[in-house]
Amino acid sequence: MRPMVLDPLFSSVSTLPGIGPKIAKLLTTFLSSQPDREASVADLLFHIPHSVIDRRHRPGIAYSENGDVVTLDVTIDRHMPNSRGSRAPYRISAFDDTGSITFVFFHPRHDWLEKMFPVGERRIISGKVEWFNEQPQMVHPDYVMAPDEADDMPPIEPIYPMTAGLSPKTLQKAMNAALKRVPHMPEWLNAAHQTQNLWPEFGDAIKALHHPEDQKDISPDSLFLQRLAYDELLASQLALALVRKNMRQLGGISRNPLGKLQEQVIKALPFSLTKGQANAIKDINVDLAEPTRMLRLLQGDVGSGKTVVALAALAQVIETGSQGGLMAPTEILARQHFASMSPICEKAGIRLALMTGKDTVKERRITQEKLDSGEIDLVVGTHALFQGKVTFKDLALVVVDEQHRFGVHQRLALSAKGKGVDVLVMTATPIPRTLVLTCFGDMDVSQLTEKPAGRKPITTVSVSLDRLEEIIGRISSAIGNGQKAYWVCPLVEESEKIDLAAAEDRRRVLEQELRQPVALIHGRMSADEKDAAMQSFKSGQTRVLVATTVIEVGVDVPDATIIVIEHAERFGLAQLHQLRGRVGRGDKASSCVLLYKGPLGETSGARLNIMRRTNDGFLIAEEDLKLRGGGEILGTRQSGTPGFRIARPEDHADLMEVARDDARLILETDPDLTSERGSALRCLLYLFARDEAIRFLRAG
Ligand code: ADP
Ligand code: MG
Repeated sequence: MRPMVLDPLFSSVSTLPGIGPKIAKLLTTFLSSQPDREASVADLLFHIPHSVIDRRHRPGIAYSENGDVVTLDVTIDRHMPNSRGSRAPYRISAFDDTGSITFVFFHPRHDWLEKMFPVGERRIISGKVEWFNEQPQMVHPDYVMAPDEADDMPPIEPIYPMTAGLSPKTLQKAMNAALKRVPHMPEWLNAAHQTQNLWPEFGDAIKALHHPEDQKDISPDSLFLQRLAYDELLASQLALALVRKNMRQLGGISRNPLGKLQEQVIKALPFSLTKGQANAIKDINVDLAEPTRMLRLLQGDVGSGKTVVALAALAQVIETGSQGGLMAPTEILARQHFASMSPICEKAGIRLALMTGKDTVKERRITQEKLDSGEIDLVVGTHALFQGKVTFKDLALVVVDEQHRFGVHQRLALSAKGKGVDVLVMTATPIPRTLVLTCFGDMDVSQLTEKPAGRKPITTVSVSLDRLEEIIGRISSAIGNGQKAYWVCPLVEESEKIDLAAAEDRRRVLEQELRQPVALIHGRMSADEKDAAMQSFKSGQTRVLVATTVIEVGVDVPDATIIVIEHAERFGLAQLHQLRGRVGRGDKASSCVLLYKGPLGETSGARLNIMRRTNDGFLIAEEDLKLRGGGEILGTRQSGTPGFRIARPEDHADLMEVARDDARLILETDPDLTSERGSALRCLLYLFARDEAIRFLRAG
């Protein structure tokens, strides 16, 4: 049960003044940590301003810089009304000792302006100054006040990230009311730790952040922000530690076969293992043999060969007579895993099945029956595998591929499908250490640092879209020499249809210019159509595959050597790296062409430069972190799992480490959170929506 002291923070935002059902809905989409629940007062309070406006800035008209927000003490000179119904603005001129300025209004209400700006009188006016033809002007000032009301103008104003339809005034009013609801809560921080850092109480910190006196107050190293960031990190680390402890305690099962099946799988491979693969398999075998649960992260850059490690691990549990599952983030990827594992499984005598959201009812029923009877050893699928009703006779190991798209919820759901289920998580996004902590807590980590032998580096160039013809020409001669190419068209959410049309157009153009059939693959195709397209590209029947970003993760056609990424400027770094990883998978030299439409913005330019400079996924991940911030790298936006609202991994890495140690110590000394601090920590978990972990406590 949620501690009662938190009730005021968990009431809906619609209980705040000025928030009707419409704005409440807007805030829910914009802010809620759980999309199925209306945004709460707490959600609102965790919406922290990104900057401040200082209305005390009063330089005088002539000394106001272009773009500055200033407060002016002026005398109104003259009205220049627009004719009614015209599109021209209404102008009002005014002056002070230093010069004159024009206030500009579009779609004005004349009577209102006449009342607010009485000619010949003094007014205190605040807003943003813009210089136009060497004349200062201010469009729609923020404040217009008579000298005797000027004290009502807030000297310092916080500026919040906004969303369309929400006005700053509405937000400010609701925020002030929300702040009044912050209850006095028990302190969950360790007293010595708090004193040593000079951190204020939670309530004082949150108030200070919403009434900043200075930009410094809301900067990443402000004591107020640090306090709240630490709270959030501690909540997350504590929740992860609880989940992990619980998974371990629930009792794992020692799975310690002779290893014959694993041997057969490895023998069936057309290559020998890299040292990294062999080591990872060894780590996993040891974990599986332990009577505790395995919770291991397998990190390896794109193309480093993680799938083989997964299959070897799965073979180990299958030899003991149990079952395994491999969960992929997309249907294409699930199908590809199924296809590439099939021949090896066949040789080794592993009974393999595929399960995706596209199965017919009948197919699903048959698979389900076989899973229950134990006639299937290994099932590969999308997250459909672990939703709802799917059951297993004896599930022992789950491998989650490209984990950054899955949240904690899904991890919990899938390990509930068997007894003492072991979990192996694979990720190609080389997650910096700090983010590993954020996302997975204290997981064991195996890394594949080397690529399989014989891989050639990928040459990357960036080319303006103006040179499209030339690029097509080069592709034409490359495929004439027997090469294969991907051509990636971006998919922009807002207009999937238009993008699809663009991809289809591109295919048509390429077919014309190259004078041969070109395959097309996109997210809206049926499973069979996708299979057919992939198959014809794999077999070489078509030598060019036009694709939307559905091929982003994991697709494996080793003899494809060219990838063209159209509108590369629209992609993030991690995505570009993933896409580029589709080539350079065989023993031939590969190239990646980043086709951009200029002019490039600063960040997109920086991204393309990094891509040209390096193939090193770790370096790219670090740069990405700098350019974008942590939340997006982990893909939390995509999967909708609650990420961080206050803490920023790139700014608060040091706090993260402390929070992890703190969480560990807490659970060592007070495993069920029953002490005084323990019950305060329960509040903390609820406050930051990490309360799911609370059900793992004995004294709930
Ligand atoms: P990822 O780590 O990106 O998931 P994959 O598992 O898809 O990589 O492997 C990429 C390609 O490398 C596949 O074609 C796979 O068969 C091949 N491969 C994996 N391990 C080795 C190895 N030790 N030697 C040569 N090729 C390998
Ligand atoms: Mg993979």
